[in-house]
Amino acid sequence: MENNIRVRFAPSPTGLLHVGNARTALFNFLFARQRGGTFIVRLEDTDLERSTIEAENAILQDLRWLGLDWDEGPGQPGAYGPYRQSERLGVYRRYAGELLEKGKAYRCYCTMEELEEKRKRSLAKGIPPLYDGRCRNLTAEEEQAFSAAGRPASLRFKVEARTIEFQDLVKGRVSFDGQRMGDFIILRSDGGAPYNFAVVVDDGLMAITHVIRGEDHLTNTPRQLLLYKTLGFLPPQFAHLPLILGSDRTPLSKRHGATNVAHFREEGYLPEALANYLALLGWSSEDAQEIFSLEELIKKFSLERVSRSSAIFNFEKLKWVNRNHLKGLAEERKLELAWPFLQKKGINIEKMGEPWWKAALDVIWEEVDNLSQLDKHLSIFSEEGRKVEPEAQSLLQKEESEKVLQAMKEELQTVAEISAGNYKRIVSTLAKRVNLSGRGLFMPLRAALTGKIRGPELEKIFILLGKERVLQRVESALALTGSERSRRGES
Ligand code: GLU
Repeated sequence: MENNIRVRFAPSPTGLLHVGNARTALFNFLFARQRGGTFIVRLEDTDLERSTIEAENAILQDLRWLGLDWDEGPGQPGAYGPYRQSERLGVYRRYAGELLEKGKAYRCYCTMEELEEKRKRSLAKGIPPLYDGRCRNLTAEEEQAFSAAGRPASLRFKVEARTIEFQDLVKGRVSFDGQRMGDFIILRSDGGAPYNFAVVVDDGLMAITHVIRGEDHLTNTPRQLLLYKTLGFLPPQFAHLPLILGSDRTPLSKRHGATNVAHFREEGYLPEALANYLALLGWSSEDAQEIFSLEELIKKFSLERVSRSSAIFNFEKLKWVNRNHLKGLAEERKLELAWPFLQKKGINIEKMGEPWWKAALDVIWEEVDNLSQLDKHLSIFSEEGRKVEPEAQSLLQKEESEKVLQAMKEELQTVAEISAGNYKRIVSTLAKRVNLSGRGLFMPLRAALTGKIRGPELEKIFILLGKERVLQRVESALALTGSERSRRGES
């Protein structure tokens, strides 16, 4: 029955999409796509105070950007909608009412203050704060009295189970002690449904076959299993994904750096690279391959190879994965992707024309970790704010440098333009004139042209700058060399 597979990603729209949640979405998506199943997005927006439409739109935008398109959910009507919990409140009330009628749940009149008081007392005694069952066996008269006193009632589920066991697809056999659970609320006194109840009603009615989610939900699973059984739904299979930690082994948070998908998008990480990196957080391929397209991930992903132990979010590795994906891009796509990043930095792309930009991007492409670094590397081609780094400066002060640059200046005066056709000849003539080769010849040229001692291929820089600008740069570097300065009486 493989093609009946139905999985869901159920974000709470209370903030931006965190990389941990994006990983959950990705694993659900991969699992569904590989097995020809259905991938559903359901918005868990019952926390009305914290849920916002902006967060909802931002999450959906990030999912689309990552390439994780869904079959049912917002904007994708399906037979199991609505896919937003705030539109399903009536359904939760109906199911909670049924449990009350069947005697599986009861009205609880305890106030928040009373419950808080009891909680504190238990904690002070060092006992886990479980509901004490005070309203479990109220008589009809007692209920009436509470109700007449104006106390609102919530509904609590009767926990009868001793042990609850299940086979998790990642964690293996998991067992919980039902005695340590306490009767829990399934409908609040304001008519709202708490997460544990709403999620089961939804997963049950939406015929979800596999619940793939973060390990932080593992402790919710026993309550949910009891509800499945009592509501008469077939429980799904569970797969709890390992936690994602920062380098200090605490759960990944802002303290470790940026953790939202939107941030990585704005920094110029490619969606396919981020998806690739997220796949490696807790999953690995059998043959140790690490760079994948989304299509390859769909083919290779398996829940069996999801690790039980926590994954560490490694920013350096993400950069490496991104560099690998950047390398594989087609020329056209490079410019298309770079364009908004250059515009944002106020670079006027029109001035030089498209062919020049394509060539320039090509030269520096492999030097960047992400697209927001492009402008920094492109600065070698611009006149504004050009700096000569100290190492380049001291190199230019050497006598040899002056010799090379002087000869280059003269050599340039003999050509109309620098091109791929005459570059080699210019350089070999120069080499003979100054009797230098290799680093001795090229380093002063590089320092003069770029103000740096390291960087992309020199030939390309020569050609992209063109004769006039090369000449200008050689001349201004000559002004920095030793004898020029002493001629001008500077020390
Ligand atoms: N709304 C829950 C969350 O964002 C979903 C948990 C689940 O997948 O059951 O964590």
